[in-house]
Amino acid sequence: RAKKEGRGRISYFDDALGERLRELAELEAELTAAIEREEIEPYFQPIVQIADRKLVGFEVLARWHHDRLGNVPPDRFIQLAEETGQIAAISWQILRKACIAARDWDPSLTIAFNLSAKQFRDADLSPRIEAILRETGFPAERLEIEITETAIIDDIDRAHEVIDQLRWQGIQISLDDFGTGFSSLATLSRLPFDRLKIDSSFVTTVSQDRQKAKIVAGIISLAGSLDLSVTAEGIETEDTLEMLAGLQCPLGQGYLFDRPMPRDKVDDLLSHGVTWTGEMTHGTQRTV
Ligand code: C2E
Ligand code: MG
Ligand code: MG
Ligand code: MG
Repeated sequence: RAKKEGRGRISYFDDALGERLRELAELEAELTAAIEREEIEPYFQPIVQIADRKLVGFEVLARWHHDRLGNVPPDRFIQLAEETGQIAAISWQILRKACIAARDWDPSLTIAFNLSAKQFRDADLSPRIEAILRETGFPAERLEIEITETAIIDDIDRAHEVIDQLRWQGIQISLDDFGTGFSSLATLSRLPFDRLKIDSSFVTTVSQDRQKAKIVAGIISLAGSLDLSVTAEGIETEDTLEMLAGLQCPLGQGYLFDRPMPRDKVDDLLSHGVTWTGEMTHGTQRTV
């Protein structure tokens, strides 16, 4: 803080920047410790077949609870980890834990795992995933990998190669956050995806916004004609779900069904046998 005294105006900015850098450096150090202690956990958010509200699987979402900092959101630490190169270590820990949890669940249930753009450029990405599947005994057919367009955009041929390698293993590939990128249609036409995930920014307000409704309808029909499955992300209300059902959207996820939850809660849920019934007036109730 000595700077503050002598240097006049500019020191305010210096301090603000300095503060920000210190925070980042601290977060990075904490993240390193968290990785060493394997403290970053996979949470699981249900993915539901819209027509009959049957559970088909879960998206795996990273959660980091720090004693002093509290819950650090993934948007924050994943991005930092990408910059520092810690992303690979985090990712493989999460995938390993998720596979170990999910291998005991009903064999019809899949898990959808997010891969960051940086990892997509790793030469040994596909063998790495294969090794984790082998080690944990989790079948490739039950794994889906979600990638965003940023992973693909700067080298589409390389992306094609990686996607092929993963699909040869039996893994399914989804294009995440569809609708938010720059060249979605070009990407779609060139790469062999299995599924699109419609970004929540289109889905959450679809029942109140006619323009969004038209876009979502268009995406679903486009996907259908390309033989792609679709998951709508960010379903929060019964109205939204009904609208998507009307548009014959195959799959959905969102707070209406459940928030991401730890493995123990999934185990509970599954041991009771889960479906979500539509109780129109009071939101969706889970029957257990
Ligand atoms: P994403 O892959 O698009 O994940 C969906 C996000 O939407 C999750 O946020 C989820 O909690 C949230 N969400 C689910 N349902 C609803 C809903 O009904 N309403 C609203 N408003 N939000 C909903 P989360 O968990 O905070 O993750 C944010 C992003 O961080 C993810 O977006 C993904 O890009 C990234 N991320 C999370 N976990 C991982 C990971 O293990 N690896 C990598 N590379 N990225 C991850
Ligand atoms: Mg995702
Ligand atoms: Mg998404
Ligand atoms: Mg996202």
